[in-house]
Amino acid sequence: MGQMAEKISKVDHEELLKILNTAFAEEWLAYYQYWIGAQVAKGPMRSTIVAEFLKHANEELSHAQLLSDRIIQLGGTPVIDPADWQKHALCKYEAPADEFIVAILEQNLDAERCAISRYQQICEMTGGKDFETFHMSRHILQDELEHEQDIEDFMEDIKTAMEHACKCGK
Ligand code: FE
Ligand code: FE
Ligand code: MG
Repeated sequence: MGQMAEKISKVDHEELLKILNTAFAEEWLAYYQYWIGAQVAKGPMRSTIVAEFLKHANEELSHAQLLSDRIIQLGGTPVIDPADWQKHALCKYEAPADEFIVAILEQNLDAERCAISRYQQICEMTGGKDFETFHMSRHILQDELEHEQDIEDFMEDIKTAMEHACKCGK
């Protein structure tokens, strides 16, 4: 445990560790949601989108690593039991029961928007009070904003292609 690390953080310690563990659990769920979605997805632009899903999955896992490192530095313990991920997470896990790629994109978009609000919240909580946690959260926020944009772009491209196909068919 980093003694000085704990001392210099001017944020309520318990509250901070709680929200970092919420984010940590959400990252594991986001990792799995992307990973399993990549396995089962069917539909337009599949190979391109699946490659991006797997890339995002790895990025979510790297976020879990950053959070785990910071939680331990602050004297906490990252959630150790996967059975507890859904209890700690406030963003909900959406199982890709519908394998159509657009349905999976919609689910991942929900997850990204929830993640964006989580890191915005952590940034607001730590800005000017815990520079290291702020810096980490701002870095993750930047990735989540990119993820949202990637998904919106795929959805727009599919929509445009489908509209075009409808017109040609007339
Ligand atoms: Fe993430
Ligand atoms: Fe993300
Ligand atoms: Mg991307």
